[in-house]
Amino acid sequence: MSLPRKIRCAVESVVDHGGRVYSVELKPDRPIPVFQPGQFLHLTVDEFDPAGFWPESRVFSIASSPTERNRLRICYSVKGRYTQKMERAIAVGREVWIKLPYGDFVIEPDQEVVLVAGGTGISAFAAFLAMLTSQRTLPVTLVYGARSPDLLLFDEMILGQHRRIPALQVVFFAENGAPALAARLERQSRAPQCFPGRISLPEIWPLLSDPANRLFYLAGPPAMVETLCSSLRARGATPDRIRVDAWE
Ligand SMILES: Cc1cc2nc3c(=O)[nH]c(=O)nc-3n(C[C@H](O)[C@H](O)[C@H](O)COP(=O)(O)OP(=O)(O)OC[C@H]3O[C@@H](n4cnc5c(N)ncnc54)[C@H](O)[C@@H]3O)c2cc1C
Repeated sequence: MSLPRKIRCAVESVVDHGGRVYSVELKPDRPIPVFQPGQFLHLTVDEFDPAGFWPESRVFSIASSPTERNRLRICYSVKGRYTQKMERAIAVGREVWIKLPYGDFVIEPDQEVVLVAGGTGISAFAAFLAMLTSQRTLPVTLVYGARSPDLLLFDEMILGQHRRIPALQVVFFAENGAPALAARLERQSRAPQCFPGRISLPEIWPLLSDPANRLFYLAGPPAMVETLCSSLRARGATPDRIRVDAWE
C-alpha cells in the first residue's frame, strides 16, 4: 500500500443532498497516491503549514474511483462540532488539505460478500460497486439504508450496475418514503428490494443465498454497526466473517 501523503486541494463542487448531507469534489494540486476502494482520507478545513503539525481533522471514505488520480469525492453528514465547521467552511474554490491513503477496509475479491451501508457509509463501497463488471460471478449483496430516498447517494450508479450485473443483489431501506421508492423501483426491469425503516437483519437474512458463507462488511454510524454486529453474531457469524469500517 502507498505511504500516506499530505496534499493541498481546491474544492471543485459541493452538492447539498438535503438533511445536512453533502458530496464534495476536490481537485488535488498533484496526482494522489495509489489507493484501494474502501480506504479513507483525513480532511482538514483548518490552516496547515506543511512544515508544521497536522491540524484537527476528520476522516472520510474516498468515494471516487482509484483510477481518478486528479479528482476526489467524499460524502459527509453533519454530526458534531467538526462537520458543522466543514458545513460552514467548504465552498467552491476554497482550499482544504487532505492526507491519504489510510485503512484496510478493502473487499476481498474472491469471496461472497454482503456490503451493508448506513447513510454516508455508502462512500466506502462506491468505488468497489462502480468498478464491478458483469464478469463477476460470486454474489455481492448491497444493503443500503438512508433516512429518505433522496439521501440514497449514488443511486443511479447502483441501479445501473444492478441492471447490468446478475451477481449483484440490491436491498434498500428508507426510514421515510419507502412506499414511493418501492413504486418507483418497480418500474425498473430488475427491481431491487425495498423495505421501510432501518436496516434490519431479520429482513435481510432470508434474502441471502448461503448466508453462513458470506463475508459481511459494515460501514456507517456506530449505533448501526453495533446493532448489526450483535445480530450477526446471534445468527452464528464468526468474528472473522464480519469486517467493520469503525466510525467513532
Ligand atoms: C474509517 C472512517 C470512515 C469514515 N467515513 C465517513 C464518511 O465517508 N462520511 C461521513 O459523514 N463520516 C465518516 N466518518 C465519520 C467522521 O470521521 C466523523 O467522525 C463524523 O462525521 C463526526 O464528526 P464530528 O466532528 O462532526 O463529530 P464530533 O462529535 O465533534 O466528533 C466525532 C469524533 O471525533 C473525534 N474527535 C473529537 N475531537 C477531535 C480532535 N480534536 N482531533 C481528532 N479527532 C477528534 C472524537 O473521537 C469524536 O468522538 C468516518 C469515520 C471513520 C473512522
